[in-house]
Amino acid sequence: MVIMKSVKKEAVECETEHFLMAQKQLDEIALEMGLDAELHERLRYPKRSLIVSIPVRLDNGKVHTFTGYRVHHDVSLGPAKGGIRYHPEVNLGEVAGLAMLMTWKCSLMGLPFGGAKGGIRCEPWNMSNGELERLTRRYTAEIINLIGPDKDIPAPDMYTNEQTMAWIMDTYSVNVGYTVPSVVTGKPISIGGSLGRQEATGRGVAYCTRQAVAHAELKTKNPAVVIQGFGNVGSITAKLLHESGYKIVAVSDVYGGIYNPEGLDIPRLLAHVSEMRKVAQFSGGQAISNDELLVLPCDILIPAALGNQIRIDNVANIKCKIIVEAANAPVNPEADQYLQEKNVMVVPDILANAGGVTVSYFEWVQGLMHLFWTEEEVNQRLEQIMGRACQQIFDLSKKSGLRLRMAALRIGISRLAEAKRLRGLYP
Ligand code: GLU
Repeated sequence: MVIMKSVKKEAVECETEHFLMAQKQLDEIALEMGLDAELHERLRYPKRSLIVSIPVRLDNGKVHTFTGYRVHHDVSLGPAKGGIRYHPEVNLGEVAGLAMLMTWKCSLMGLPFGGAKGGIRCEPWNMSNGELERLTRRYTAEIINLIGPDKDIPAPDMYTNEQTMAWIMDTYSVNVGYTVPSVVTGKPISIGGSLGRQEATGRGVAYCTRQAVAHAELKTKNPAVVIQGFGNVGSITAKLLHESGYKIVAVSDVYGGIYNPEGLDIPRLLAHVSEMRKVAQFSGGQAISNDELLVLPCDILIPAALGNQIRIDNVANIKCKIIVEAANAPVNPEADQYLQEKNVMVVPDILANAGGVTVSYFEWVQGLMHLFWTEEEVNQRLEQIMGRACQQIFDLSKKSGLRLRMAALRIGISRLAEAKRLRGLYP
């Protein structure tokens, strides 16, 4: 019998640039914390990945076949949890990398969930409502064996929303033969959604920003803030920070940005965006591009749009003191290293945007109990959980000298590692 001493690694299909970014973070902290090598290896790849073809009849009568994904990274702590995004750049590696981040995020926040992510490669802004509905329903039918309130609970992510969740919930329910609200979170209130879920990610980002300002001991009373992205997360963050007396000097969306060094009138801007569907042409600021926006002088930069926005080619021009990662993976690892050397505080995504999945957890619990909380209760509990996570991370970072991202990963991965060790390997 031949005993294989070393097994040659096969090419792994998910190893794209995005995935390797997430894996690199794990490798760095695993080394630092002395994570058991076998456990480390088990966490480096997703537990299971599904790729599906989604034929959809378009409004022009033709059938177009889209590609969709659902990945479970780890489910040791509970059902898989994570959003579904619609975007032309979605691919297996991106979804797998984001599923890994969900594992760390849920573990860090103390939620009883594993990490998942899903997505469909499409251009949602070029599709009609009817096409989006047919796309969502067929995708749900294709992944139906993976999802369920005890198995995997999807939620909104980029370019998906409450309506998308309602279609998923309905398709799933019709297929099993009874109504199952808890198969998704982030659904409309009228079909079992939670009060406060829609604002939760922005609320968490605003909370972390205030904590970061307190720890960084910024001298100014009205810190100047730049926000990239003015969707659900960016706009709520702007509104809440504005209410706290912060000066929001620039914001942007896919069409471009606006800048006013004296501070934008956020209530007026919100009214403009709800009418025009974009920030451009707002009369209270000057037009700037997204690239210009990232390098504006400010105290706090909040990337709340796409991943991979702050890279080695633009990081040297960034002039803020604090970055709060409202988006998932907006700062790549080389830029992260550079920012650390320059003493720029980076509040990592798995903490900064964890308000969303935390209130998703509340929604799931309320649904399973058939009992609903007031918005005040939801916000209070969210603050409690965010507060505990912030304190643990800032304390560990201070004590150990680890940057905030590594402190957050260390706490999240330690909890998961302990669970995996206790459960053991079976079969
Ligand atoms: N898509 C969000 C995230 O990246 C929310 C996930 C959820 O609520 O399950 O955290």
